[in-house]
Order: sequence, then C-alpha cells, then structure tokens
Amino acid sequence: MHIMVTNDDGIHAAGILALAEALRDLGEVTVVAPDRERSAVGHSLTLHSPLRAFKLRPGFYAVDGTPTDCVNMGIHSLLPFRPDLVVSGINHGANLGDDITYSGTVAAAMEATLMGIPAMAVSLATFERSEHFPAAAQVALRVARQVLANGLPADTFLNVNVPNRPAAEINPPLITRQGKRSFVGKIVDKTDPRGRKYYWIGSDEPDFNDYEGTDFFAINRGHVSVTPLHLDLTNYESMKIIAGWEL
Ligand code: MN
Repeated sequence: MHIMVTNDDGIHAAGILALAEALRDLGEVTVVAPDRERSAVGHSLTLHSPLRAFKLRPGFYAVDGTPTDCVNMGIHSLLPFRPDLVVSGINHGANLGDDITYSGTVAAAMEATLMGIPAMAVSLATFERSEHFPAAAQVALRVARQVLANGLPADTFLNVNVPNRPAAEINPPLITRQGKRSFVGKIVDKTDPRGRKYYWIGSDEPDFNDYEGTDFFAINRGHVSVTPLHLDLTNYESMKIIAGWEL
C-alpha cells in the first residue's frame, strides 16, 4: 500500500509526524506538506505563482503552497505511485461543524476525493499544547485500515476528530453528521502604534449546538467522531422549491 500524508499545520507539526509514523504499519508513507502553517486556507489553489518542493529527507517533501497544492504536487509529480489513500492531519484543533469549510486539513482530503483517491482528514480536538497526537494517530491508523479494506462510497471522504485524551480514555467512534455553530464570530478592532485602525478576525470560545448525532456531540463526550462527507453541495430538497419560482 502507498499512503500520502499531508496537513495544513506544516511539515514540522507534531501531528503530521505522529500520523506518518503510525501509518507506516499499513505500507509506504510519503509526506507532502506545506513548508509552514497554512491553517484556514480552505480549498485554495496556487495558480499565479510557481511552486517549489524541497526534499527534506527520504519520503518527506515540503511545498511552499497550500494543502490542496500539496495533494496536486504529490499525486501528479512527487509520488512514484498513485497512492491508495491520502490522509490529512493530524490537525492541531478540531474540525467540526461549519468550521470544516475553512479547513485546509479537510480541503486536502477533498482534493484527493476529487481525484478519485480514498481520503480522510484527522484532527485532534484541542488548541492547547498536547501530548496526545500519538494516541490520535493510533485512531487514524484503525480508521485508515478500514478505509483500505472496505473502500469508501463514491465522492465521499471521512472527517475524523479525536478527543484530546490518553488512548485508554478515548471513547469508541460514533458515526456523526456535521454540526452547527451557535455564534457568528467577531472582529476585534484596535488602533496601531501610528494611530490607524486595524481589524483582526477573532472568535469567542468556539461554541456549537450540542445536538445528538453531531460531530460536536461526540467530541464533547470523549468519543471519536467519524463524519462521512461528500462533495456534492446541492440541496436536493430546495431544487423543488426553487423550481417553482418564475425564473
Ligand atoms: Mn491547522
């Protein structure tokens, strides 16, 4: 088996190292990841400047681009084989609910899915310093093994979130749906040393509706959350309603 690993926290992040290490149990692992943190770049693709890849050591490539760039570079250029699986993570911070639309981690898995390659995103649900990346990597390994054994439905990838706990305290995986934030965020505005205003996109404490069956509900109770996502954003129910308009 050939597995490509990427992330949005950058190639030197603790999460990607733990992930690559654990996935070696399944086969050959090649890491192609941004050369620096690119969190919250979403599904952006670099089209107006060249990209460069730097081989840091065997099987480790740093790219001066986004996670989506890395998937493209890896699959179309750097990897000697088309991978059997692309795993993105382990992100430092949960990717739950609406937040996945900003996520570079999730977007990398999306990009692989668009290329017809089975993919999953893995995130550790804390923004604090954590020593639980190896535990989360073992969760990722188990899920990856199942993806390789069973395949995934068409146009579908997995968004896996792992609670920030020692392995023995992690509750079993729940298959969840994408949750919903309960606030809209905020902007901090202040004045710089030269008297000009500046704005910084901030946030209150992340807060989600704690609805049963959601990714947030699972993480909040110490379970691994596994959400199958697909790339068809069509709202089929709404098609009937819009079809009734006089367009
Ligand atoms: Mn990140």
